[in-house]
Order: sequence, then C-alpha cells, then structure tokens
Amino acid sequence: MHKYKSLVLGLGLLATALATWVAYHSETRILKSHFAQTASRYSVAIEQEMAVALETLHIIKGLYDGSKHVDADEFAEATSDIYRRHPEIISISWFLGADGITQFPELEYLERNAKGPGTDVIVASLRDISASYFSKATDSGAPVLVENIDTAKGPSNGLHVILPVYKPAMPKTFTERRDSLLGYIVGSFSLDYLLHGAIAKSMEEHVSYSVYAAHHGTNNAQHAGKRLYEKRPQQIPELQELSATDIVMVGDRNWFIQIEATPSYSVRLRSALPALVGLSLLALLAAFYWMMRVSDRTAREIGQQVVERTRALNLANQRLQQVARTDYLTDLPNRRSFDEALEIAIESGCPVGLVLIDVDFFKAYNDFYGHQAGDECLQRVANALRGVTRSLSGVAVGRYGGEEFAVLVTEKYKLPKLAEALREAVAALAIPHKDSTISDVVTISLGVLEQVTPDTREGFAQVAAELLQEADEALYHAKAAGRNRSFVVGAEKPANDSKSFVSKFAT
Ligand code: GH3
Ligand code: MG
Ligand code: MG
Repeated sequence: MHKYKSLVLGLGLLATALATWVAYHSETRILKSHFAQTASRYSVAIEQEMAVALETLHIIKGLYDGSKHVDADEFAEATSDIYRRHPEIISISWFLGADGITQFPELEYLERNAKGPGTDVIVASLRDISASYFSKATDSGAPVLVENIDTAKGPSNGLHVILPVYKPAMPKTFTERRDSLLGYIVGSFSLDYLLHGAIAKSMEEHVSYSVYAAHHGTNNAQHAGKRLYEKRPQQIPELQELSATDIVMVGDRNWFIQIEATPSYSVRLRSALPALVGLSLLALLAAFYWMMRVSDRTAREIGQQVVERTRALNLANQRLQQVARTDYLTDLPNRRSFDEALEIAIESGCPVGLVLIDVDFFKAYNDFYGHQAGDECLQRVANALRGVTRSLSGVAVGRYGGEEFAVLVTEKYKLPKLAEALREAVAALAIPHKDSTISDVVTISLGVLEQVTPDTREGFAQVAAELLQEADEALYHAKAAGRNRSFVVGAEKPANDSKSFVSKFAT
C-alpha cells in the first residue's frame, strides 16, 4: 500500500480535478438552461406586449365596422379611453383611403396622447411613411409595421403600425380589398416604452437585451437591420459566456431578440458546490497523505525497535550460553562444554589425548580448612592448570567435577610430560595441607590417555565415554599407587620421574 502512495496521491489529485470540473460544468449546464428560459421569457413578453398594442388598434377599427362614418368626436372619445390605459401609445390617427396605389392617403384625424410629443412632430413623422407601406397594408389586409421613424423629426425610437379598414369588412380577395378600402388606422408607439415594459415583465437585470428589425423581405438574423432597442447594464459586456438569439413575429415583421448575460448573471447564480467538491476531496487527500506518513513513521519506529530488541536478545543469549558453559567458581569451561569439545574433536577425526586430574585428600582439606578455603584452593589449582595450558594450542582445560579437572589435547604433545608439568605446577603453589598423609602441600593425581585416533563407528558420544573411562582408570591407578603422580594408560607404573616443563612437551 505504502509503495503505491504517490500513485494513489496522483490519482486522487486527478479525481479531484475531474470531480471539480464535472461539478463546474453541470452547474454551467444548469445556468445555460436558466438563461435560455430568461431569453424565451423576454421574447414571449415582447410578443404579448405587441399583441396588446395591435389589439388597441382593432378596438378603433371596431368603430368603423359599426358605422359608415366616424366623426372626430367619436374618434377622440375612443382614443382618449385607450390612452388612459396605454402610455406606450404616442398617437392614433385615421387616414382616408387613397385611390389606387400611387396616391398618398389623406390624414383626417390625429389624436395624440397628452404624455407624448407635440402634434407637429407627430405629423412630420407620419408624413415620412412611404406610400408603399400603405399599399402593402391595403393588399395584405394585415397590420404593417414601420419602425424606421426619422428621429430628427419624429418621436425618438418610435413605431407606426398601419391597419387597413374596409367597407364592407373582411374582403376576401386582393381586388376586393383595393375596391372596398375605407382608410387606415395608424397607431404610433414608443418602442422604448414597449420593449422596456417587456423587460420589466421578464424581470432580469443581469442580462443585456437588443432588438433588431429584420430587413424587409428577409427573416434571416444575419440580415438584421436597424437596432430598435438596447438595454445594456453597466458591466463588462465582453464576457459573453451566455448569449441567445430569438425571433419574434410582430405583425408582418420579424424582430430578432439578442440576449447576452453579463458576468454578474453567472456569478449570482453560481454556487460554491464545485469549489466545495474540490476542497473536500483535497482535504480527504491531505488526510490520507498524513495518515500514510504517520503509519510510515510508526512502521519505521517499530522496525528499529525490533532490530534493537533482537540485538539485545542475541547479546543476552550469547551471555547466557557463555554462563551455561563456564564453571562459576573457577571460570574454566564446565563439564558440558568439555564433553562437547571432546565429541567435536573425535568427530573431526584428529588424534585425541586426555588428562584427568583429581585433587588428593580434598575432603580432608575441606574438613580441616573449611569449605570457603576449599573453594579458594580449587580456584588456585585451576589457575595453575590454566597457566600451564594457556599458551599451548590444541590444549584445553576444564573443571570436570567437584575437585576434578580434565585436559583435552588435540595436537601432538608428549602427554606424560604435560601431565607432570601440571602436577608440578600445582605442587609449586605450595598450598599447605596439614591433613594430607602424603605431602605438606596440596597435590594432584593424574590419569593420562595418550593421543589415539578412535574408531567412531559406535558413535561419538560412546567413544568419548570410553576414552574418559580409560583416563579415569589411569587416574585410579595413580591414586592407588600413592597419589601425587600421573599414570599413563597402558604403562606399567606411574610416570612421575620427569621434571620437564611446558617447553619440553612437544614431540
Ligand atoms: P582422594 O584423594 O581419594 O581423591 O580423596 P578425596 O578426599 O579428595 O576424595 P573424595 O571424593 O572423598 O572427596 C572429595 C571432596 O571434595 C568432597 C567434597 O567435600 C569436596 N568438594 C567437591 N566439590 C567442592 C567444591 O566445589 N568446593 C569445596 N570446598 N569442596 C568441594
Ligand atoms: Mg574426586
Ligand atoms: Mg580427590
């Protein structure tokens, strides 16, 4: 697991980035659909606003449907009622129908909204309407829109709607329409008022709105003509993350509604969710990383502790083994250790020699001088034996029993001479022994088995026991012969005639 830490971290970072990206983009999708709804709300609001505007003209048209002649008072009364409810209407006028298409219709009544511009201005604007618009209205029988009002003369940003009136009403054919034309109702509207009212209805202030009139004869947004209206909030308009173009049919015309969202639109609607997703995942990653580090450190510490404890344990074991193999009193290898060494020597197949040593009348020594003195005596004897054998390679001495010692020889030496040297070394200590019947000082007896290469078919332990047995018998002979002497296995009598020392052992 720890091996893959960086891989997991890398994948985690990738997953975090991906999750944040997904969260951000799903929110963008929601934003876009919200924006599309806003855009279509505005288009619908414009359509409704214009439908209401055209409706007012149909109310006036109703006057002409009811009677052949509508006088100025009737006209004025009908319009004044409308103005009260429709501040967006600048004026409503009645034009008498012209003969044929070449002649310009004649303005008969003009009723202006008291809130709008003066009569002269309105009249000037009405005179600018091309005769072709009137002809178009006559022939189609439907309202015709004239958006391009010259702002120098007319009301700023205005719109005329020409509605033809026939007598009898509703002529079916083109010719019938020309023949039965009575006149035209022309409603002049404030475009600003109409389109601004639509925005108020769509209720979105973080959006920029533009309305373009299509060129006559085309419905393609690419050929959008005059801009009729623009409402642009005071925000950086360059960032157009969201924009939409809608087409609205008004009378005989197409209007293109271009809607763009300002940056504040997105900012306002965006949530903290993507950031939260990212931050939460990052926090999780950081926690994971921290846990990994802690567990790494713990594993390292435990590893170190294990190494230290193993080392301490090994040391303790070594010391224990050493203690188990050493005699506590003399510090010489103990019997177990000696037996092992003997077996190993036999196993290796080299010639093996043995010297078994026993302190003479030691019970009497103990009884006479006390156990403590007995211990000290054993220590001194051990030191003397060690002193003789220390410098000899292949010669090892151990404490074999109570007051018994043993020497193992694995290299070629004259063992009878070595035995004598050992005996003399102990005698030379001159430890007084008042209760000995053979000497004034502490003496030892030795059983010597000269080097043999034993037949090991019976097993090493068995051979070892036999060799020790032979040396022990020699020791018995040394005791029997009067003690303070060495006896060599197979010899007729004890070999205590030599006065030679260590340097003379070598064969
Ligand atoms: P021999 O000359 O025939 O060997 O006579 P011995 O008295 O030496 O032999 P024996 O086996 O009768 O006595 C050995 C004595 O050694 C008996 C015991 O009290 C003494 N002894 C054995 N181990 C120790 C020891 O560790 N310390 C002391 N102080 N005495 C010990
Ligand atoms: Mg003994
Ligand atoms: Mg003894």
